[in-house]
Amino acid sequence: MAASDASPDTLNHFPLTRQALVIGAGLSGSAVAHSLALRGWSVTVLDQATGLGAGASGLPAGLAAPHVSPDDNVLSRLTRAGVRATLQRAQTLLQSGTDWALTGVLEHNLAGKRRLPKANTTQDPCHGADTTPDTPPATAPGTTFGSLSPSSTLASAAQIAAAGLPPDTPALWHSMAGWIRPRQLVAAQLQTPGVQVKWGQTVQHIERQGDLWTVTNAQGQVLGQAPLLVVASAFDSLALLRPLPGFAVPLNPLRGQVSFGHMSDLSDAQRQLLPPFPVNGHGSFISGVPTPEGPAGWYIGSTFERNCEQAPVRPEDHAANQLRLSTLLPDLGAAMQQQFDPELVQGWAGLRCTLPDRLPAVGPIDSERLPGLWLSAGMGARGISLAVLCGELMAAWLDNEPLPLEASLAKHLAAQRYRRL
Ligand SMILES: Cc1cc2nc3c(=O)[nH]c(=O)nc-3n(C[C@H](O)[C@H](O)[C@H](O)COP(=O)(O)OP(=O)(O)OC[C@H]3O[C@@H](n4cnc5c(N)ncnc54)[C@H](O)[C@@H]3O)c2cc1C
Repeated sequence: MAASDASPDTLNHFPLTRQALVIGAGLSGSAVAHSLALRGWSVTVLDQATGLGAGASGLPAGLAAPHVSPDDNVLSRLTRAGVRATLQRAQTLLQSGTDWALTGVLEHNLAGKRRLPKANTTQDPCHGADTTPDTPPATAPGTTFGSLSPSSTLASAAQIAAAGLPPDTPALWHSMAGWIRPRQLVAAQLQTPGVQVKWGQTVQHIERQGDLWTVTNAQGQVLGQAPLLVVASAFDSLALLRPLPGFAVPLNPLRGQVSFGHMSDLSDAQRQLLPPFPVNGHGSFISGVPTPEGPAGWYIGSTFERNCEQAPVRPEDHAANQLRLSTLLPDLGAAMQQQFDPELVQGWAGLRCTLPDRLPAVGPIDSERLPGLWLSAGMGARGISLAVLCGELMAAWLDNEPLPLEASLAKHLAAQRYRRL
């Protein structure tokens, strides 16, 4: 596999017809469809499901929050850029308070492993429990998403107290972070003029015929054709792409389950212990966010299970999430024990799609052997934080625009890093 020379440098022979076919209507597929359609492309999205949220993007609520590291490593810089891109997209397309909220996120640094770059190791200057800006700062044209000022600091005493944690708790505060309901973001991105979605279309086979990629179902019926095919069907992308010569992107499934319940089932005493913002660190706890049925809910997740290609909801995973809550927020965990009663707790499970280096694989798979065949997959546990940025990156590559992040960072996302030589 090629470790370097992974950027899509050979796009100049791309056909002039700006038509794209996207397989998969999750966060990845809808993000790239939106970014292309905004640039005048005509995009058809095919999905095997009958409606929104069949894959991991059906997660009822999740966090957009950056990773931090003392050396501000690649994952940290990418997630910072990605979270900015997602929050700006949410601000443009979604309704604050019901679909998403820029709440800030407190990271309970349980293992003491999360360390900030030196420049960020002061507390938030406001020292308040709520120091979140009202809006994500706009990115000026020509600047990249990752190059904005640090938004992760040591948590203040007031923030730690607001989470119900003891004063000496090691914790970070991410001001540029919040919760999102991924399904709402997917729906909004798919509604972009220029995007057509076709549900109930299970792609079984893909093949290049002349200058066009042709996708067919199990009966051999043609479902679509275009010069650009973007495969964004998460772990299922493997079955579609494995037969193609040179394909070697090592996609893996990683099952996860979130446990949730209705706020209306909580007592006043329990409500008083709820942090006013999401808390992560050992899984994450979010409250006050609408459940799939509508009423506001609380959420704790998520489990991690390798080598599992199905995603049933399991009682033992509720038990694991209960333990997670007790570790993350001990007082709340103790107070909410009965909420995990089988009659009260609900669950949602899905398959993340991961790669060994924990980064997505986007862009051309092999621009010489498979011209016009692109991938957007491997978002892992960070699809909310990364899919929008990946869509923008692919659109910028295709339209020869300035990239939305430094080229040196973008190359870490390029699917061609796994090209078989
Ligand atoms: C329990 C859990 C908690 C998570 N929490 C967070 C979080 O807090 N923050 C965060 O950033 N991320 C989180 N994630 C990860 C995030 O949900 C994923 O990274 C993201 O949703 C992946 O989006 P996707 O579009 O790549 O894949 P998917 O959403 O899985 O979409 C793939 C789509 O492809 C379609 N498809 C598959 N095969 C075919 C085919 N042959 N033909 C046609 N269509 C096909 C499917 O129907 C599906 O709609 C979580 C994931 C899980 C499971």
